[in-house]
Amino acid sequence: MTVQTVHFSRGIPPREAIPSTAIAGLTSAVLTAEPDRVFQYAPIGRHTGDQELREQLGKFHSVDPDRVFVTNGSLQALDLLAAHLLRDASEPQVLVEAPTYDRAVQIFRRHGARVSGVPLRHDGLDLDVLRERLRTEVPAFLYVIPDFQNPSGVTTGEDKRRELVRLSAEYGFTILEDIPYRELRFSGTAPTPLGDLAASADGARVLTIGSLSKVLSPGLRVGYVIGPPGTPHALAVLAESIYLSPAPLLQVVAARALADGLVRQNLERIRQLFQPRHDAAVEAVRQTFGDIHLCIPDGGYYVSVHLPIRTDEEAFLAAARNEGLALTRGSAFYPVDSAPPPGTAFLRLPFQALDPEEFAEGVRRLAAAAEQAV
Ligand code: PMP
Repeated sequence: MTVQTVHFSRGIPPREAIPSTAIAGLTSAVLTAEPDRVFQYAPIGRHTGDQELREQLGKFHSVDPDRVFVTNGSLQALDLLAAHLLRDASEPQVLVEAPTYDRAVQIFRRHGARVSGVPLRHDGLDLDVLRERLRTEVPAFLYVIPDFQNPSGVTTGEDKRRELVRLSAEYGFTILEDIPYRELRFSGTAPTPLGDLAASADGARVLTIGSLSKVLSPGLRVGYVIGPPGTPHALAVLAESIYLSPAPLLQVVAARALADGLVRQNLERIRQLFQPRHDAAVEAVRQTFGDIHLCIPDGGYYVSVHLPIRTDEEAFLAAARNEGLALTRGSAFYPVDSAPPPGTAFLRLPFQALDPEEFAEGVRRLAAAAEQAV
């Protein structure tokens, strides 16, 4: 094997997961048929997104289109929701899983939140710790990634989901569930979305954040929020004052990709593409490290480990670089008040873009780096 760098760094779709030719075909059909629609401003006045796209997203998630608000990628959904939910509070607290998606933490902090971590176990948040925390302070919201979490790969189990929704009703806080990887399930049964559970739990408040980045194309920048109809309206007022609307062309292309079945077809295809990569990754981690992985994910992009190391994280990362590994700093996935267990490095290992030999070689190099004492 040639000694090229093994990239365990970015969670982006590999090029073979993006149906570029089919999207290009849809785009040129839209450009020819509907130039007036896609080259003009979108209608203003509480505009919640292209109507056709909202209808398609409503169908995809079996919800009323009036509950859908379209954004430029789900990161913008996080930004607008943070602005909306934190607007009147002084030094609001936001609870997140520890570890969690680092960019989300940065966004919440930029909106003035004190972001605090609740430990994540193999099947979701540690609910004993969460209950304890709720008794002291009720957060402005709780942010969770319940399906194939970034960075850990953990899926929150059905019972924990029910309890989270119950706690939202009991204490009166909102839950943001971010579900970009939900459809990428290779095996097993999907637990119920928190948003669906909230519909039958009096007083529970769940806002769902979705994205087409992992199921179709991240370059289209189509994200969305699903919430009670008041939420799309409130977000529309904010959005209009910043950027009017997402680009009409990209929204119409996304709507056609949903309507023509391209998203469903692509999902079938990428599940088949990723499953062998997932199986090989799980096998390589198990064989080399035994049981230090947090969970065996049945889908998504990530496996993760708490790797025992003999140095601090900085020295370990330097050793890993020398071994030819590109890693993301694991402590960066922990909000400031939390950290990986002492004596370990937390490592997110994305498998979606690596062939089995490459992943196994990466794991061998990790083991070598972890052995180094200086
Ligand atoms: N949320 C999570 C949990 C993610 O992993 C990502 C992308 N890595 C995003 C949001 C952002 O996705 P988008 O391309 O829709 O902005």
